[in-house]
Amino acid sequence: MLNTMVPHDHSCDDVSVSERIRARLRAAGQTFRANDNIAAFIEDGELEALCLEVENRMNAVLDALVIDTENDHNTVGTARRVARMFVDEVFAGRYRPAPPVTSFPNVSQLNELMIVGPLTVRSACSHHLCPIMGKMWIGVLPSREAELIGLSKFARLCDWIMSRPQIQEEAVIMLADELESRLQPEGLAVVMEADHFCMHWRGVKDEQPVMTTSIMRGAFLQNDALRREFLGLRKSGVK
Ligand SMILES: [Zn+2]
Repeated sequence: MLNTMVPHDHSCDDVSVSERIRARLRAAGQTFRANDNIAAFIEDGELEALCLEVENRMNAVLDALVIDTENDHNTVGTARRVARMFVDEVFAGRYRPAPPVTSFPNVSQLNELMIVGPLTVRSACSHHLCPIMGKMWIGVLPSREAELIGLSKFARLCDWIMSRPQIQEEAVIMLADELESRLQPEGLAVVMEADHFCMHWRGVKDEQPVMTTSIMRGAFLQNDALRREFLGLRKSGVK
């Protein structure tokens, strides 16, 4: 029996950009959770188109909220602004590749505790997409053989990981993994202290919802004195 069904030839026009990107992610078996980076699956020019798709769908959300975006002068461009804010700014860490981080050899064979921080944390919670604002401290015990990276690169990597809808507990692990793979240190410590705005703006409306999470690896796990030195210097540091 002849199969009369003709397979659809999906041209680029009838498939949304997000569908194309999702299809590539699925084909590669890659997850695309809120805090995953998917830059490798976005082709040249697609980010602009994705922004436009988000704008159209954001307009539909405003419509569903029964906000008159046609006649309300305050919300005329809101969908476009929110789409840009998500894709180009606050969630840019999902869509942009990792910042270039040049490393240099540890010529002096430095093997002393190094503390970087406080770095500014600007993120959003995956549950409500509400801001998370906070500080991050990183402690590194470099290995004599491994490479070092410049101070400003810590801030760039932190920003790249945090500019995604995040869960604080996962964010510090992601940053620690990233730093560990780049620095191969003898020890690594990451402490994040953050204020979750979903606790102020909605929900319990608690005034002091600061959450602190820490990750200790290698020498920081084995050596109490080193861990105390890091935590002490972090507290005494400039805030
Ligand atoms: Zn939340």
